[in-house]
Amino acid sequence: MVADRLEPFGTTIFTRMSHLAAEHGAINLSQGFPDFEGPTALIEAVETALRSGENQYCRSQGHPALVTAISGNVERFYGLSYDPMREVACFHGATEAIAATLLGTLNPGDEVVLFEPFYDSYPACCALAGATPSYVTLRYPEFRIDRSRLEAAVNERTRAIVLNTPHNPTGRVFSRDELLIVADVAKAHDLWVLADEVYEHLTFDDAKHICIASLPGMRERTITISSAGKTFSFTGWKVGWCTGPEHLVSSAQAAHQFLTFCASSPIHAGVGAALPMVTDAYYDQLRADYRRRRSLLVKGLKQVGFDVVVPEGTYFVLAHFGKLSSLSDVEFSEWLIREHKVAAIPPSGFYLAEPEEGRRLLRFAFCKNEETIQSAVDNLKRWADREDPAV
Ligand code: PMP
Ligand code: GLN
Repeated sequence: MVADRLEPFGTTIFTRMSHLAAEHGAINLSQGFPDFEGPTALIEAVETALRSGENQYCRSQGHPALVTAISGNVERFYGLSYDPMREVACFHGATEAIAATLLGTLNPGDEVVLFEPFYDSYPACCALAGATPSYVTLRYPEFRIDRSRLEAAVNERTRAIVLNTPHNPTGRVFSRDELLIVADVAKAHDLWVLADEVYEHLTFDDAKHICIASLPGMRERTITISSAGKTFSFTGWKVGWCTGPEHLVSSAQAAHQFLTFCASSPIHAGVGAALPMVTDAYYDQLRADYRRRRSLLVKGLKQVGFDVVVPEGTYFVLAHFGKLSSLSDVEFSEWLIREHKVAAIPPSGFYLAEPEEGRRLLRFAFCKNEETIQSAVDNLKRWADREDPAV
């Protein structure tokens, strides 16, 4: 009964792996959600909103408090100025922002460039819009953006490029040089860019997140999407938004009004009230906490025998298991859940042009308490310490 255009996508890998983890009592490092709470001040701000009458539909394009706070934040972190009422829109999570942007801008027959491995909603939303993706594969282990491969993916039907930085699942934070390649190609072919920057505040060491909208000539052709879910560890609140020039934001809004009309008023009002109060120290602490979790997981996975791509950003690690097993990523992840009670994501489904690129990789999430990460590492070590751990 499922519509033909959705048939190829089935049930998302996140739903399937979290379900399998629960069924087998495995430690869930698959789906990216924290197993700890976000800041109490945000909970209190939402509570205040709930008790002060913010309980009916809010402005469709975004609660005034939240669009104002977002415009302020983008100015604060990137020096970019967006009119809160015309160049910002709020959604039920970044997922809805992505869907609304693609549905609101694309026509059947249009093409969109996607880098793979991709976040799974991009190809599905292109299909919903009747558009055709054209893939550029980022190759293990560097996952660098290559100019000639990007140029080869563009033709006269191409309308847009979807760029995710910091990048799920590779952990890449694309460099200025790589972003300049995307910007050059976008400008040369008059394309617009959907910049998915939901992990904007999760970068490590020397990696610096650069908004592609801040590069010369890109503000007018970039719609930037972000989310409070990752930065404040409340993935279930679904607070997403976009910023961009009015022609792109109003197209996303044209779809948004018929998808959900508006997001949850008290949650968006509460986050809008709290956002301007979040100190620089909060963001520094967030990064410091994630740096520790990343070290623990990377060190543990290396000790087990994985070849680890140390992430520059996000809360995901890609690990190559070629020395440990000859199974495929799907078989190996299911085996690990059943036999060793650790759940990770098999990433081959994040590739459509070259799925072999993902067949010997697993994605582990470290948005978990250090005890959770340590328990998962201990389970894996118990297996690896055996005389003949190969499967
Ligand atoms: N984009 C990427 C790259 C993500 O990893 C996620 C996380 N689920 C989203 C978008 C969706 O964010 P949200 O939970 O706000 O819908
Ligand atoms: N973004 C999260 C991840 O990559 C999960 C999102 C989802 O469950 N759809 O794990």
